[in-house]
Amino acid sequence: MNTGLQLYNTLTRKKELFEPLNAPHVGMYVCGPTVYSDVHLGNCRTFISFDLIFRYLKYSGYKVRYVRNITDAGHLEGDRDEGDDKFAKRAKLEQLEPMEIVQKYTLGFHDVLRMFNTLPPSIEPTATGHIIEQIEMIKEIMNNGYAYEANGTIYFDVEKYSKNYNYTILTNRNLEDMLANTRELGGQDEKRGRLDFALWIKAKPETLMRWASPWGEGFPGWHIECSAMSAKYLGAEFDIHGGGMDLAATHHTNEIAQSEACSHKQPAKYWMHTNMLTVNGTRMSKSAGNGFLPEQLFAGDHDLLEKGFSPMTVKFFMLQAHYRSTLDFSNEALDASEKGFKRLMNALSLLDKLSPAESSDFEIDPIIENCIKAMNDDFNSPVVIAELFEASRIINTVYDGKGKISIIELDKLKQLMQDFVYDIFGLKDEESSNVELNSVLDMVIDLRKTAKENKDYATSDKIRIGLQSMGIQLKDSKEGTTWNKA
Ligand code: AMP
Ligand code: ZN
Repeated sequence: MNTGLQLYNTLTRKKELFEPLNAPHVGMYVCGPTVYSDVHLGNCRTFISFDLIFRYLKYSGYKVRYVRNITDAGHLEGDRDEGDDKFAKRAKLEQLEPMEIVQKYTLGFHDVLRMFNTLPPSIEPTATGHIIEQIEMIKEIMNNGYAYEANGTIYFDVEKYSKNYNYTILTNRNLEDMLANTRELGGQDEKRGRLDFALWIKAKPETLMRWASPWGEGFPGWHIECSAMSAKYLGAEFDIHGGGMDLAATHHTNEIAQSEACSHKQPAKYWMHTNMLTVNGTRMSKSAGNGFLPEQLFAGDHDLLEKGFSPMTVKFFMLQAHYRSTLDFSNEALDASEKGFKRLMNALSLLDKLSPAESSDFEIDPIIENCIKAMNDDFNSPVVIAELFEASRIINTVYDGKGKISIIELDKLKQLMQDFVYDIFGLKDEESSNVELNSVLDMVIDLRKTAKENKDYATSDKIRIGLQSMGIQLKDSKEGTTWNKA
């Protein structure tokens, strides 16, 4: 097991040696998407960053339980218990049931992450599936004296909590300044303190998503779902809690407060935050209107895009930045990543064609050591990529007959590429998989043509319907048969 991993802990604001509470088991919780609309590329960056972390922990020999939730209820438009319910608003707009909205965008989210070749989490719990756990947790917080009821809504009492705990532990802000800078919110006079936040919100007559509770019908506040579900699946204390940096100040701060007020325990030993994807320096977000959908990027279908870029090019572009640095989107940067990714894939395609020699001009161990050292230094993927280019240079040199490599070093080179390119970065060769699919389909289409010529319509239909069930549509015309993905 790799025991030299250092990671940056937002809680202590420094890099620390990773020492899980119960090695080799690791519990990791990452805040997932709010599924009321399509995920944009910025959201994808955060999930791709945690996929890298998940994959590297597994490579390092840990048994990871990775929990990533789906927020499918309770997220109001404002982060401070104000505004409309995002799901209800969208449901009205699209003339669908709120749960149809949830289903539609959950499926879309999974499709997008599959295109980026990320691994599914071990558990993907939903807020609506854990109403009972959330109510139980709220009851416990009330029993401990850290929450109060006002007209059927339950608020967390930040002032009371701050007497025993540090509300700004994650952000190191000054509580007095925060109080001074927090706006009074209209219609929320029932709150005792300006920083108090809702744990349970009383349903209005028009509220669509509502559940019975000891305080009447209502729905949970946004923050409580993560505290309840992380405790349920990972325990009151677990190893890593993550999410985008924008979540630290409110959502994660409130999660820590809830967990401490319930179990008197700081939930996660390490808090990890990924930095934002920006466009011309502005954070990509739904509200700023600069959020492309991954599909738009792949197809080049957006005013800001000069052309389309493949999922693996986009993923490679993201891995070329450290997860804690901002990453600015530009056509030029993506062009450069496209070239770099092709260079890497070209070298990989030559790897099996190299013939080993008696002796070797190259040693692979230093490259492997540098890759591990970089990943152990808070998952420094850009440094690994520089090392992979060095490995590509060796492959090209040997292929061109300008250098030789022994069988031992060649095997190490192959293992290096397998581990870092495929297993840890989760990249894949898009060209070759398309080439394979193309030739297989050409053959199947040819078989169907023969069956039709022999009037064996049972077989030709079976082929067409079989392909259809795999999402491949055949189209017959005078010129012949073509196919496309449905
Ligand atoms: P949401 O669906 O808005 O709750 O966001 C899902 C995840 O994406 C959260 O962890 C956010 O912090 C993260 N996120 C949102 N915008 C960006 C961005 N521009 N770059 C990186 N991550 C983001
Ligand atoms: Zn969360």
